[in-house]
Amino acid sequence: MNDCLFCSIVSGEIPASVRAETENVLAFDDVNPVAPTHVLVIPKRHIESAAQIERADDELLGELFGVAAGIGMEINGGWRLVSNVGENAGQSVFHLHFHVLGGRTMNWPPG
Ligand code: AMP
Repeated sequence: MNDCLFCSIVSGEIPASVRAETENVLAFDDVNPVAPTHVLVIPKRHIESAAQIERADDELLGELFGVAAGIGMEINGGWRLVSNVGENAGQSVFHLHFHVLGGRTMNWPPG
């Protein structure tokens, strides 16, 4: 999709520190980390947010969660998986992404 930051990372137009890659999924460090480990896991195909996931994406979701869990399981002490949907939740990039966060104690409820 034109003018999508994460599509530009997928195409290599914008550089990123890639942590994992599969056929349909890319994982890279968040440029503004809020935890010692802060990795974003995205589908290579443009999907706006978790609200746009369809049943036809079941396999893709499995791939996304597999990559996220692979990163999370390397973090000692546990990890958090977050996807912000919409402006009230703090979504700032409208290309589906899961934040894998870990390496520090997390608060609940989140702010
Ligand atoms: P969200 O606010 O949930 O939509 O998350 C978007 C995330 O993308 C934020 O945590 C940003 O720090 C991160 N981000 C923005 N630009 C880049 C970039 N060029 N490379 C890596 N992460 C980015």
